[in-house]
Amino acid sequence: MTWLVVPIMVSSVDSALMAAQRAAQAGADGVEFRIDLFEAPPHRLADLVAGSPLPCIVTCRPIWEGGQYDADEQTRISLLEHAGLGDPPPGWIDVEWAAYQRSANLRQKVGLVVRHPSQARAVDTQLILSSHDFDRQPADLDQRVNAMAEAAARVDGVVKIAWRGRSLVDNLRAFEILMRRRTPTIALCMGESGLPSRVLAKKFGALLTFASLDHGHGTAAGQPTIEQVRHRYRWESIGQHTRVYGVVGHPVGHSLSPAIHNAGFDAVHFDGVYLPMPVQPGYAAFQEAIGGWLGMEALHFSGASVTIPHKENLIRFVREQEGSIEPLALQIGAANTLVRHDDGSLYACNTDYAALLDALCGGWGIGREGLGGRRVAVVGSGGAARAAVAGLAHYGATVVVYNRTLKKAQRLVDDIAPDQPGRVVAARLEKLCDSCCHAFINCTPVGMHPQVDATPIPIESMGRAWGPDTVVMDTIYNPIQTRLLREAQHAGCVTISGVEMFVRQAAAQFQLWTAHEAPSVLFHGIVTAELA
Ligand code: NAP
Repeated sequence: MTWLVVPIMVSSVDSALMAAQRAAQAGADGVEFRIDLFEAPPHRLADLVAGSPLPCIVTCRPIWEGGQYDADEQTRISLLEHAGLGDPPPGWIDVEWAAYQRSANLRQKVGLVVRHPSQARAVDTQLILSSHDFDRQPADLDQRVNAMAEAAARVDGVVKIAWRGRSLVDNLRAFEILMRRRTPTIALCMGESGLPSRVLAKKFGALLTFASLDHGHGTAAGQPTIEQVRHRYRWESIGQHTRVYGVVGHPVGHSLSPAIHNAGFDAVHFDGVYLPMPVQPGYAAFQEAIGGWLGMEALHFSGASVTIPHKENLIRFVREQEGSIEPLALQIGAANTLVRHDDGSLYACNTDYAALLDALCGGWGIGREGLGGRRVAVVGSGGAARAAVAGLAHYGATVVVYNRTLKKAQRLVDDIAPDQPGRVVAARLEKLCDSCCHAFINCTPVGMHPQVDATPIPIESMGRAWGPDTVVMDTIYNPIQTRLLREAQHAGCVTISGVEMFVRQAAAQFQLWTAHEAPSVLFHGIVTAELA
């Protein structure tokens, strides 16, 4: 069993016990009482431990190890001793490896209240030997873990190693430590990129992982809430063979993809978990992270949504790995979906263009074939615009690509539709007001949260031309209704939100990974609820 433990910074016995009750109600298996700032008489520590509704760890973390305890070592040891005398006693007492190594006094005093082969009494409390690095992965990581494991094994104790993860690759080191453990072990990476080590602790058989009770009440950077771990990241269903997916990009902290895909996995009973996977810009970072994750068989990393700035990197990576790439993704020059098949082979494709086409046609009330001969204005020349133009040109629409940088629009046209002169053309953004297109698609980030007052197509310039026969689509989905859509609606146009495209591109990914039809209504409901 991997315990789900909520850390509680103890300011008073009563408030800590109330927090422990809330942790129990939220589904925690245990709590960690952090007594760094404990000010009540020491004998109250036994009351704290005895009153806990859940098995507990007692920790008094000194400032020199990232905690808040700032008094003398003798008093600290005495506090741990008092806590150890609770009836029932704590499940674990945590002591820093550095202090344990250097202080015979600490070893002897703590030895009185934890179990070990020469313990005279029947004691159940286990010793956790812990080591933290809040800046980086320790240079002597393996040596340190080995030495801690040897010492822990002598007292039937636990190894806890935690460090600040600098990239997704750090998580792999934590998983390796767990896979070769000889004693119960906790191996965690702190910070945003360390989230996988916390959620997947159960997959790799860690003794426990930590989750905070509420946002902002964690005791370490990157600690998710218990609600997130249990519900968003499917804690109960994670097992040794659970497949791992994620959204790769920079930034990904606010992505809605984990919420929808994990809910989808739940809905179809698929053994998978979907995580945010932040990867710094640049091909080297992408290659190291994705190559590393694919290289660890036991991780079962089976696919990813890939977003800004790595869509081009995905194509390059899959080509280098001799995987296959959807021809239209190659033509677009960007892919947003990675699939790893059971035989290990890779496939990259682009679910954006089909999602955009279907969202557009759905709102317009036509089939894809109905696009033939219609005039569509695409605003922007980035990845989304490339997907839009490729799809529209394929179905015979006449497309004008408007962009503030004309050269980039022209390059897009030359790349995507070199054989369709006159039917797919580039134009300056300022020319948009002269446009006589039937549909307008915003493929720029103008109007996206938090710049919600901006619009790429000011209504003053289009007002007279727009009416009930005009279709206006925004690829932006946050906010759901952009200023562009509000104004277009006011002018009587048919409007289509980026949510329609977002849900469809995610649904297509879901189907590729799980072979189940995506629960699109559920996806839609989650996105609109999260953005409401
Ligand atoms: P991108 O590759 O960075 O391209 C952005 C384009 O917008 C560029 O052509 C750029 O012009 C133009 N642009 C940026 N700021 C501008 C400004 N202030 N005024 C005029 N033009 C400006 O981005 P992308 O990946 O194509 O994404 C574009 C939008 O599509 C984003 O809002 C994204 O959220 C959305 N999107 C939505 C979905 C969905 O599922 N709904 C999927 C993918 C993308 P220059 O060429 O002159 O730099």
